[in-house]
Amino acid sequence: MPTRPVSEYFGELTFGLGQMRERLPKHAFQDLTRSLETGNTRKISKETAEAIAQVIMDWAIKNDATHYCHWFQPMTGSTAEKHDSFISIQHSNHSELKVMERFSGGALIQGEPDASSFPSGGMRSTFEARGYTAWDPTSPIFIVEGKTSKTLCIPTVFFGYHGQALDNKTPLLRSVQSISSEVVNFLKLIGDLDVKSVQATLGAEQEYFLVDKDLAGQRPDLLMCGRTVLGAGSARGQKLEDHYFGSIPTRVQAFMEEMDHELWRLGIPVKTRHNEVAPSQFEMAPIFEACSVAADHNTLTMETMKRVATRHGFTALLHEKPFAGINGSGKHCNWSLQTDRGDNLLDPGHTPHQNLRFLVMVAVVVSAVKKHSDMLVASIMNAGNDLRLGGNEAPPTIISVFLGSQLETIFESIAKGDVAKATDAQIINLGVSHLPDVAKDYTDRNRTSPFAFTGNKFEFRAVGASANTSVPVSILNAAAADAFSEASARLKKLLESHKSRDEAVVALIRELINDSKGVLFSGNGYSQEWRDEAKRRGLPIFDTSSDAFAVWKDVKATEFLVKQNVLSRDEINARYVVNLERFAKTVEIELQTMGELVDEHVVPALESQLSRTYDIAEKVRNEKLAQSMGERVGKMEITLHELLTYRAKLAAALDKVHHIDDEAKKVDSLAKDAQPIGVKLRAAADAAELLVADELWTLPKYREMLHSVMK
Ligand code: ADP
Ligand code: MG
Repeated sequence: MPTRPVSEYFGELTFGLGQMRERLPKHAFQDLTRSLETGNTRKISKETAEAIAQVIMDWAIKNDATHYCHWFQPMTGSTAEKHDSFISIQHSNHSELKVMERFSGGALIQGEPDASSFPSGGMRSTFEARGYTAWDPTSPIFIVEGKTSKTLCIPTVFFGYHGQALDNKTPLLRSVQSISSEVVNFLKLIGDLDVKSVQATLGAEQEYFLVDKDLAGQRPDLLMCGRTVLGAGSARGQKLEDHYFGSIPTRVQAFMEEMDHELWRLGIPVKTRHNEVAPSQFEMAPIFEACSVAADHNTLTMETMKRVATRHGFTALLHEKPFAGINGSGKHCNWSLQTDRGDNLLDPGHTPHQNLRFLVMVAVVVSAVKKHSDMLVASIMNAGNDLRLGGNEAPPTIISVFLGSQLETIFESIAKGDVAKATDAQIINLGVSHLPDVAKDYTDRNRTSPFAFTGNKFEFRAVGASANTSVPVSILNAAAADAFSEASARLKKLLESHKSRDEAVVALIRELINDSKGVLFSGNGYSQEWRDEAKRRGLPIFDTSSDAFAVWKDVKATEFLVKQNVLSRDEINARYVVNLERFAKTVEIELQTMGELVDEHVVPALESQLSRTYDIAEKVRNEKLAQSMGERVGKMEITLHELLTYRAKLAAALDKVHHIDDEAKKVDSLAKDAQPIGVKLRAAADAAELLVADELWTLPKYREMLHSVMK
């Protein structure tokens, strides 16, 4: 690795708008920026496309790329790519084949991968199985280095024949547009006339586990499911809590250094790295960026992490709950709104007006979360997050907002009518002039909140580690856009009936807070009391993801997505179906793997142990020992009986699921019948693990997997 300063090589594997400006003919670059401003790159002229393709290819070949691919994010949650080499054949006069590099404008702008192998949620019937990828110039092109060749990756969107989004990126890009225009409209009403556009920003903190590759290779469940489906907890677990922010083991540090280096070369601004709460758990966080770029960068980070981990003898686990009994992994999505002049709209300012603007911005976002909390939950649920959320380590599936006590006090007094005039004096009395200090008061940060205000941004903490951030962020953007649109309508009315603009804004804050105070909560989000309280407040509570998925087909709850042009009705329905399909497939694979592990590892190991113990028990002469040996044998026999019984029940439950065609019923049957049997089967298997001699146990144990990395 180089000893050069990072600033010298940061982004060296990327090709973005800056480089295009330098290398393109002026008119071609102007054509590109014009189409970017209108948000439609498919409209650039053929000549421009050719010119862009040429400079990209020159750059790619100079950097030793042999292939290019359209890199996109299908609804599987991960990314997809199909590689083509740059070579094309030219016939010379003597019919000799001549190979040369070629990359056309057409190949840059649009591709046509076979869409039939990607989920479409039923949007694509077989006769129109085609899918198209189209270049998204808002995200930089980059080079991925393989072992011996390099590939130019072109970030693209992926859509069907009728223009339906088949990916997670398209809705995100649409939401970026709607949030911008709704916030700009709103800002005009409160007197900020010079803002032309607003960016939703995202900084995604990524948690992950590292396991020794050799050990992971011996665990079929880690290979098949990315998580352990069996395994008795280690004695140590995370009890000592000495791991968090502890010193990073040398081997892990080496991995992190190489990962950071690779990510910097890819233009990803990684900033922090540290140990997390559970043993072998770590976190990395980048500096925030425009959300669409940050979303691409997070998926690229996950891919890079996996690749680099292998080189260091690790397997990186990005699952929400790789190990039972210890913390799972989340991906806190830090989110804010930034003007084209670089002002953070959720950052308190230095004047009473700026602070009033800050307060109303926060109030509108709170109202967005209140109104669309059900859809926000639906956007983050999957089979993995099901296992993480609501345990004693992550927020529950009830969305509440934490503001911090001082900010809450300010809102309360506005809501009660203590501040009506919004004169500078009154605002100062309220402490609003000290907002920068108030909002940044970190003393009462609440880690149990799924959606917390943290000084100058909101932190959506319920998002799972494996998530494609495009999904929750596009829903959050759309929810906020909807709330800003509604707030604008209200403010217009209030402006008619109030003497000054500031007074009208204070009145709006009052209305918003009174409407949405039910979502504000600063207590312990993990407690049963909060569950009871949330029920009394009428907040939506979902016990499992299968319940939350239903929100996707709730016409009223999803109407704002249509209104904000983020998803069409068809696309929403498709996402409902894709969520069901993915849940069903994931859970089926997990339960099937669990069954196989029980059949092939757990039961045989227990049988061997039992036969050994029978042999000894027969020979025992001491009466007292005979009795305790009898108890030991009894325990084993009961455990074996439980294993066989639940195994048979699981097989029957899975068989039943196979015969269900309706996807929703399938999910229901898996969640309500099969998964609970799985829980019992696992308990029996984990009990067996503690009864069997270590030498007879054929799977790596939690204590090996979790603690070997830390040595
Ligand atoms: P904290 O300690 O409060 O979590 P950090 O400064 O460590 O704050 O930031 C955590 C994450 O939040 C980082 O990824 C950071 O880039 C991101 N972040 C900070 N400011 C913003 C913002 N305005 N918009 C989006 N993300 C932000
Ligand atoms: Mg944080």
